[in-house]
Amino acid sequence: MAGISLVDPDIGPRELEAVTRVLRSGWVSIGAETAAFEAEFAAAVGVDDAVAVSSGTAALHLACVALGLGPGDEAIVPSLTFVATASAVRMTGARPVFADIVGTTGTTGTTGSTSGDLGIDPHEVAAALTPRTRAIVAVHFGGWPADLAGLRVLADAAGVALIEDAAHAPVVRSPMGMVGTVGDVGCFSFHATKNLTTGEGGMVLARDPTVLARVRALRSHGFTPQGDVVDVGYNYRPTDMAAALGRVQLARLDDDRQVRRTLTADYHRLLAPLAARPVHPPGTTTAHHLMPILLPGHVDRDAVQADLLAGGIQTRVHYPPVHWYSAYQPASGEARPRLPHTETLAPRLLTLPLHRRMTGGDVEAVVGALARALADQPADVRRAV
Ligand SMILES: *Cc1c(COP(=O)(O)O)cnc(C)c1O
Repeated sequence: MAGISLVDPDIGPRELEAVTRVLRSGWVSIGAETAAFEAEFAAAVGVDDAVAVSSGTAALHLACVALGLGPGDEAIVPSLTFVATASAVRMTGARPVFADIVGTTGTTGTTGSTSGDLGIDPHEVAAALTPRTRAIVAVHFGGWPADLAGLRVLADAAGVALIEDAAHAPVVRSPMGMVGTVGDVGCFSFHATKNLTTGEGGMVLARDPTVLARVRALRSHGFTPQGDVVDVGYNYRPTDMAAALGRVQLARLDDDRQVRRTLTADYHRLLAPLAARPVHPPGTTTAHHLMPILLPGHVDRDAVQADLLAGGIQTRVHYPPVHWYSAYQPASGEARPRLPHTETLAPRLLTLPLHRRMTGGDVEAVVGALARALADQPADVRRAV
């Protein structure tokens, strides 16, 4: 059986042609392709400039460094995110302080199902502010914009920076403007699993051109355009092969999103009669990066995943909360973070396959298999929904 993978990067003839062109040119390190990719990405989100880097993690790390985070500082981050959101803060010597997500937001739709908001809660961020806070990091989980209005007001009032981890949300309009341009710094990832992929790669935007200039210098050993070294920098440069791939993927992003939107609508329709619910209500603005659902409480998620995998269907958990990892346990004397929404929802989250090579028939197969996997659960568990 062919099976249905969670993600499947769509590398077509135009990508092959673009990368081959760069390889034939002999200029395989950073160069003109990267500059063109930066200009095209900046134009797509309506800003003047952008800096391409070697990964989303490099983008986040450079954001923290360029904003001056260091030992003794704190940055408020969600725990329900990929670990790099928090590790980028740690790499500077600063301390990530975890804040809770909004959580479930009542009932929606004709089925009266609960839906969830997996974005960081501005109220929780406000409660976590201390005199040491230097930055707030918002994650646009699954492609849905976080509450940028609330977070921007908070950051301005507190005099701290707002960093957007927009790894899931390239070229997404939010009520406050394009995602990645509302924060002081916006960070994107082009990892193989992301909507726009260059294999590995990332991009940085910044509102203040001096911050972006600092990011550009830090990306390459701290060199200025004049050849001076003004900072202890890194080698976070992308290659021109990656940039060539990115330019084609960026041009195809709209098409890709259209397919994802249709597949997501199919999921919403087919999931409606099931106990498992899409996390977000239909129709909200999103990059359609992920298709996360909430399983009924007390369902054995491992068993459901194993059932689906036996049928060739790959699923994943986005994400085990960062504060559950060993490296993120509180130091002795430090309090455990209070994150009730994160801790309640995280064990129920499951991400279903979503990528442009899928068909409506694939969505039916996934939901059918999910229904059977849920039916395999002990009856008392099913009643506990
Ligand atoms: C993928 C991802 C990153 C890291 O990006 P890489 O390119 O893999 O380094 C950071 N944050 C989030 C939310 C991500 O999904």
